Amino acid sequence: MQRRHFITTALAGTGGLLLAQQQLLAALLQQPAYKITMLGKDAGIFTEKGGTILFVMGKEGIITVDAQFPEQSQHLIDELKKRSGQPFRLLINTHHHYDHTAGNISFKGVAEHVLAHENSLKNQQNVAIAQKTEDKQLYPDQTYGSVWNEKAAGFSYALYYFGAGHTNGDSLVHFKKQGIVHMGDLVFNRRHPFVDRSAGANINSWISVLDKAMQQFPDKTVFVFGHAAEGYQVTGSKTDLKAFQTYLKNLLSFTAAHIAAGKSKEELLKATEIPGSPEWKGDGIERPLTAAYEELTATTK
Ligand SMILES: [Zn+2]
Ligand SMILES: [Zn+2]
Repeated sequence: MQRRHFITTALAGTGGLLLAQQQLLAALLQQPAYKITMLGKDAGIFTEKGGTILFVMGKEGIITVDAQFPEQSQHLIDELKKRSGQPFRLLINTHHHYDHTAGNISFKGVAEHVLAHENSLKNQQNVAIAQKTEDKQLYPDQTYGSVWNEKAAGFSYALYYFGAGHTNGDSLVHFKKQGIVHMGDLVFNRRHPFVDRSAGANINSWISVLDKAMQQFPDKTVFVFGHAAEGYQVTGSKTDLKAFQTYLKNLLSFTAAHIAAGKSKEELLKATEIPGSPEWKGDGIERPLTAAYEELTATTK
């Protein structure tokens, strides 16, 4: 956004483009589209295309959480190599979706280990087999079931699986000293979520996953979100977790009332807002509505 504004300003100031300005414009356009925002001395987020990446750089190595797409993860690797002379100890996947794992492949021969929940690995394999993209994958070589607690690369970090939510393999990744938790796609900040029922997602369970997150982590924790609506941050606090949890509750109760009134799925999909959660605007409302309708009609049969 800032860059676009700069270019417009540069253009508006002259009757024509002078050579120096042409060169300036060319340089601006060549600048990488990615953005790095530090969250402290040794941790930051990388955003370009796909789910937000978190990285933590220590004296003994680098840990990254999620990988976006191959081009993006290469940008990340190149950038972190400039900032730290340390090896890439570990790549963690919050879940299997390709906007978080397609970039794993750039870490082949670079990261010592890849870690994810056991269901994330299964889901990644299932999708890759179905789409015949197995040769483009780098799979986790380490998996866990409910909690993973470790000290590595000089960091103390933990992964938690609190049950089905956005998929059936979402990890919450906690860096204790830094006070940061990557939520993966368990929070869509003010943006309608994708609910992957084909990979075991469950909205009702997702609500309790967020309860467990709010209980587990200290109040001052900085949470990283996979996605946010235009104009909103991909980091936030427990207040944002609570707001998203309320959205999910409103989504379920709105859909349940609709079903109880004997109305059809088609009628439900005409809704343009989830009552009680007007902050969630923009496109994609049909995704959570369809998922809620399917979840509620599947359990009441
Ligand atoms: Zn995502
Ligand atoms: Zn996802």
